[in-house]
Amino acid sequence: MAISKVYVPAEGDPKAKLWIVGEAPGANEEFQRRPFVGESGNILEQTLLRHGVQRSEVFITNLAHYRPPGNKFEALLGSQQLQEGLDEIAELLSIHAPNCIAALGGQPLSFLCNKDGIHKYRGSILPLDRNRFGELERKVIPTYHPAYVLRERSDYIKFDVDFARIVSDSRFPELRLPERKFVIDPDDHEYWIEYLTNAEYNACDIEAVKGSTKILCIGFSPSPDLCVCFPHREDGRTRDTITRILAGRQRKVFHFGTYDVTVLTLNGYDVRNYTDDTIIQAHVLAPELPRDLAYLTSIETREPYYKEEGRKNIPGDIKGWSAKRSKEDLYVYNCRDCCVTYEIHQAQMRELCADEDLLRLYLYEMEAQEAAIELGLEGFLVDQERLNQIKGVVERKRAKLIIFTQKLAGRPINVGSNKQMTKLLYEDWKLPKRVKTNRKTGKTSLTADEDAIVSLISYTQQRIEEVKKESTKHEYRIKLHFLKLVIQLRGTEKLLSSYINIRLHDGKVKSLWKVPGTETGRWSAVKFVDGSGFNLQTVPRDPVEED
Ligand code: URA
Repeated sequence: MAISKVYVPAEGDPKAKLWIVGEAPGANEEFQRRPFVGESGNILEQTLLRHGVQRSEVFITNLAHYRPPGNKFEALLGSQQLQEGLDEIAELLSIHAPNCIAALGGQPLSFLCNKDGIHKYRGSILPLDRNRFGELERKVIPTYHPAYVLRERSDYIKFDVDFARIVSDSRFPELRLPERKFVIDPDDHEYWIEYLTNAEYNACDIEAVKGSTKILCIGFSPSPDLCVCFPHREDGRTRDTITRILAGRQRKVFHFGTYDVTVLTLNGYDVRNYTDDTIIQAHVLAPELPRDLAYLTSIETREPYYKEEGRKNIPGDIKGWSAKRSKEDLYVYNCRDCCVTYEIHQAQMRELCADEDLLRLYLYEMEAQEAAIELGLEGFLVDQERLNQIKGVVERKRAKLIIFTQKLAGRPINVGSNKQMTKLLYEDWKLPKRVKTNRKTGKTSLTADEDAIVSLISYTQQRIEEVKKESTKHEYRIKLHFLKLVIQLRGTEKLLSSYINIRLHDGKVKSLWKVPGTETGRWSAVKFVDGSGFNLQTVPRDPVEED
């Protein structure tokens, strides 16, 4: 199929203060020759209206004016039609100066701002890409594409919050990004100790080596526009400075301080007056919404997404750094974390203080937080003798299962490898393919995950009933038996790696306990801060018996 020949023009007045840029027209748009008139258009119009803006007040266009085959934008990449659309946008932008351009989805984000990842950048206040648009100063705010929001309803709230910003930012042209001063590795420790400990609050944050308790730096913000970052050196001076700041009477606010305070305690620091936590505030205010720092930053501050600064090759917003990262990037990143934590804390506190019940719940969760940290540091005593007994049984069971699965597969096979398993099941055994779809990218791939195996078990059972020929029945019996053993083998491997072959601390197993871990208020738990231990809430209770 080729790109459509029907031209769908932009709509509205390009002199409008607010521009909306989508990807390309779909079937409805092509039929009516108007952009955004299908379901995507409906939700877009309703959202604009919720924020007091009529469709007729905005200029609506697409990167390309022609519908791609199968509605797949990728089919337009490198095409003349897309180039024409982009040239038209550049030309119009050189004549008109909208105050704000809403980029709907990953493609407009990429073409307008040269940034990848709509989940990360949505809500950010960004300039136009200089390489494509030269010196033109225009403000872009990306958000999800309406079609995505229609699929993932739970993300509508972010789309809506972004539109609140888009509409209010369409009243002025400047980016108005926060200005912050970062004091990195200062020499004058006494001055800063005095300054920081005399503030009402310090927003604090540590960066540590991933999977270890080695601290790389610690930052303190006494206001949203200032952060002082101390590289963590094992000299007496640094230790003394950090000790004195942490012991100060000023209130400390962390974002998920369970982690930071645990690591600091393990490094011999005593954190005094840890009274506030932005993740707990967020949990009390909106337990059903995300509460990671990147998300809170996007809704409570004007700081653009920065979580990949200096960590381009590390996916996601993870706690912990590789020791090889550039230290300078790390310190800047740490400073930004502290400043946004301060700002988020202020914004959320205003909301909490407006509701006595919420405030009480917040104080209760902060108290629980203290207990959670203590519980994490203390750990649970393990019955070593019993553990060794269980280990013996499980290892023997695993060894048998490996032999059986290899016999049935006809070759050595790692049942934990998706590649090896999908080859065996779908290429060699020709079982019906099971695929899984990546929720975010929409891409599908072959899978031999738990759901696939369970569904293939019922498929093979059914085939055994249906087929007449005894030899075919036999083949399906072998496949069925193999699939059942795969489930068992994966179970024993998980038992060994997650719960049996674990690192202990003086005979104790530890977890990191998260008070704001669930929507319902139940705590959750993960491995301990040094990568040891496991989630103590999910210890398997099934009996382990010798076959
Ligand atoms: N999706 C788009 O990106 N643009 C439209 O005009 C309609 C749907």
